[in-house]
Amino acid sequence: MRPPDRWTSARRTELRAILSDIHSNLEALLAVLEAADGGGASLVTCLGDVVGYGANPNEAVDLLSGRSDLAVMGNHDRAAFEPGAESGMNDWARTAAEWTRAQMGEDEAAYLSDLPLTARSTGALFVHSSPESPERWSYVLTLDDARRAFSSFREPLCFIGHSHTPAFFEEANEQVRALDGDTLELRAGRRYMVNVGSVGQPRDGDPRASFALFDSGSRRVKIVRVAYDVETAREKIISAGLPRELGDRLLEGH
Ligand code: ZN
Repeated sequence: MRPPDRWTSARRTELRAILSDIHSNLEALLAVLEAADGGGASLVTCLGDVVGYGANPNEAVDLLSGRSDLAVMGNHDRAAFEPGAESGMNDWARTAAEWTRAQMGEDEAAYLSDLPLTARSTGALFVHSSPESPERWSYVLTLDDARRAFSSFREPLCFIGHSHTPAFFEEANEQVRALDGDTLELRAGRRYMVNVGSVGQPRDGDPRASFALFDSGSRRVKIVRVAYDVETAREKIISAGLPRELGDRLLEGH
């Protein structure tokens, strides 16, 4: 006999893959989506910077927009449809942003320009950079950055990207600390901020693509690393005439 629907839905847990900073790296995105499927993720959330730096901006937007249930805007996404938005970026980023804007298809640019700066689901907040003032694209790197960020939102959990470096921060009894490891157990009465790292341009010394799996049932977040075809992604960047360094850095993950 089938149990009543109420019983099954009460036990259903939601496994969400959270991706950030794809940066037009189609090879990395394909590998991460395959790993997310393999891990049983039914939902895909994007924390922004789908484009910029890499050679496949439209393909990355098409693939991601078809798969994600929730997405927010990154600074490179904004620069892809808004001339001048790249003015605060470094030379390589600015060059890549101008190249990307020239490549963007109409539908892809429209998709990016419709993205919000923040989104909420399952009691969590999603934002590209610091939740303190998302439109300023500030980084959360130090404990001081994290303290200011925690005081700017109310949710027990916030997912961020932007720095391309995975990290866990915990706030308990008004104290903020960084937590090591690749798995986070969410404890009652505490608040957390998770940097999911970067799919398409990791900068923590590990060239493998990075993303997070959030299991809302077991209240667990895991950072997952995925090897992908770095050499192809690098060659495409160089053949497109983008700065060679943007290809080379993928080999080392910095
Ligand atoms: Zn980025």
